[in-house]
Amino acid sequence: MIGAGGVATVAAFKIAQNADVFTEFMIASRRKAKCDKIVEDIHKAGLKLDIKTAQVDADDVEQLKALFNDFKPELVINLALPYQDLTIMDACLACGCNYLDTANYEPKDEAHFEYSWQWAYRDRFREAGLTAILGCGFDPGVTSIYTAYAAKHHFKEIQYLDIVDCNAGDHHKAFATNFNPEINIREITQKGLYWENGQWVETEPLEIHKDLNYPNIGPRDSYLLHHEEIESLVINYPTIKRARFWMTFGQQYLKHLEVIQNIGMSRIDEVEYEAPLADGTGTAKVKIVPLQFLKAVLPNPQDLGENYEGETSIGCRIRGIGNDGKEHTYYIYNNCSHRAAYEETGMQGVSYTTGVPAMIGAMMFCKGLWKKPGVFNVEEFDPDPFMEQLNKQGLPWHEIHDGDLEL
Ligand code: NDP
Repeated sequence: MIGAGGVATVAAFKIAQNADVFTEFMIASRRKAKCDKIVEDIHKAGLKLDIKTAQVDADDVEQLKALFNDFKPELVINLALPYQDLTIMDACLACGCNYLDTANYEPKDEAHFEYSWQWAYRDRFREAGLTAILGCGFDPGVTSIYTAYAAKHHFKEIQYLDIVDCNAGDHHKAFATNFNPEINIREITQKGLYWENGQWVETEPLEIHKDLNYPNIGPRDSYLLHHEEIESLVINYPTIKRARFWMTFGQQYLKHLEVIQNIGMSRIDEVEYEAPLADGTGTAKVKIVPLQFLKAVLPNPQDLGENYEGETSIGCRIRGIGNDGKEHTYYIYNNCSHRAAYEETGMQGVSYTTGVPAMIGAMMFCKGLWKKPGVFNVEEFDPDPFMEQLNKQGLPWHEIHDGDLEL
């Protein structure tokens, strides 16, 4: 596993809990000390798996190759940042390793994500007989698998799909992001995008919003965003007439976001800054990316867990033609408590809802259930064994048939 952040910590705990499947395990990241800390916490929690750790810069293919040739992993779980997807995929190809991630590739200098860069690896993975599993977190990930499950068991034709993501938690900070702040702010400040009648429709950032009711939570203002799973789902389910993604934000969060943008702190280009040298001997001109600097002063998402109350609720609201030929609606969702996630893994619910599916995807691969040469989005595999594990591994799902979808 590469990365030692919030999501990686949860995945490592869950891997250690499933030591009958994962017999040999290594955590490698930019800073080895963070990997060692995860192992220490896992062992403190009474889990016994022997876990190796290593330092690696995942931007550097040669370093990755040296590590993979040494440890010889069957599967590399990429829980670093989207910037590292392609270097890790290159190293996997060079060393004969299979691959899994939770977020699609983004170039550092352009706030833009799409699957084309990773889909371009299809032939190479197929020819090498290797499996690459893309987007195996919650969204993308579980939401795509929910859709595959609905298509397999409940619908002849899925026509309308709305993915709804609510975080009704309170971490008691004025402003903090729930996963890597740089990636999070880049995602939210982009233009909105949804699929309708065979084409993409663009909106201004956060232009479209409405109150939606979430189970056990109530109404929350939900904003239409572009989200990566829509891109593959409309290809894999061509009967979909409209597909959208909604995420809740509180007014306090949006107010901070607006200020961050207005004062230029969400910029991803370099600015020159005259900085004092650490040894006090003078100054030097340095280049700073404002958004990366902002990340350094914002609360670390990994430290939010302790006082986090409330829960997340993420699911799919689907309308289409059922197996009986009549129109039906279907809502499938999971609610996850931040406190329960923290008590189990030391991390908050957003890391938990991403790290658990990453582990289950790896389990699917290791059991030989999700193993085929090529590069695949998760909905291209059998959803049933994955859905069964969600119930066993801490993310149980619930269904509402023929209810009011509000959308
Ligand atoms: P964090 O920033 O907490 O963790 C990222 C980890 O990767 C850190 O340990 C970081 O090192 C390490 N890292 C960064 N750059 C490198 C590098 N060049 N070489 C080696 N290691 C590196 O992020 P999260 O845990 O919150 O998120 C992890 C991933 O999960 C992201 O890609 C994010 O987009 C994705 N995600 C997916 C979701 C989904 O539902 N699909 C939801 C939430 C997140 P260091 O500790 O030294 O900074």
